Amino acid sequence: MGKDAEWREIVKAIEECRACPLHRFRRNPVPGEGSLNAQVLFLGEAPGRREDETGRPFVGAAGKLLDELLQEIGLRRGDVFITNVVKCRPPNNRDPKPEEVEACSIHTLRILRLVSPAVIVTLGNHSGRFVYEELMGRSWRGVTRERGRVHDLLLEGRKVKVLSTYHPAAALYNPKLRDRLKDDFSTLRKLLDELSPSRQNINGKRVTILDYIRGSARNEER
Ligand code: SF4
Repeated sequence: MGKDAEWREIVKAIEECRACPLHRFRRNPVPGEGSLNAQVLFLGEAPGRREDETGRPFVGAAGKLLDELLQEIGLRRGDVFITNVVKCRPPNNRDPKPEEVEACSIHTLRILRLVSPAVIVTLGNHSGRFVYEELMGRSWRGVTRERGRVHDLLLEGRKVKVLSTYHPAAALYNPKLRDRLKDDFSTLRKLLDELSPSRQNINGKRVTILDYIRGSARNEER
C-alpha cells in the first residue's frame, strides 16, 4: 500500500475511534498533517479549541509561534509532520490522562511508522514522557531537565534521533522559555545538517539540504 493510501486508512481509523472517552468531546479529531516523507516529526500534546474546530494541528497562537520557529531554521510547515499524543480535544483544555495517551498510542505509532522521520521532536511533558517511557524505556524527568537533549531511539530497526523541548504554548508569554525553544530549534537545525547528504550526489544528481528535508531526495533513494 502506498503512503497516501495508508495515511487515509489512519485518518479513517482515528475518525471512527472510540478507544478513550475523549471521542465524546471532539467536534473534529485532529490526526495531524504535513509531509508523509518528512525528516522531522513534531509530537505535541492535544488539540485545543481552534484545532478541534478545524481538525488541523497547531492552528492557534502556539501554531503561529511554531511556524516562526520553523522559519528561523529554514523550514516550512509543509516540510515537517505535526501530530499530537492524543487526537481528540480534552474538555476545557485539561491535560490528557496517561490512559488516554496510551489508548491513542496505536494511532501515534502507526503515524511514526508511516512517516518514518529521522528526528522526532517532542513538544512538552506529555509527548516527552510518552516517547521516553513507552518507546525508549527511559525515565522522563520533566521537560525542564530533558529539553535540548538528543537521544537515539530504535524504531522498526531504524535509528531515530529524539529531541525534546517545550510546547510552544508554554512559551507564548514567557520570553525566557521562548529563547530556550529557539536554542532547541537551533539544535534541530544542526541535527538535520549532520544527517543531510548535502555533499553527496544521489543517482548522479546533486541535492540540496532543503531537497532532502522536503523528501524529494529521500524518494529518489527508495
Ligand atoms: Fe481514539 Fe485517540 Fe480520540 Fe481517544 S484521543 S478517542 S484514542 S483517536
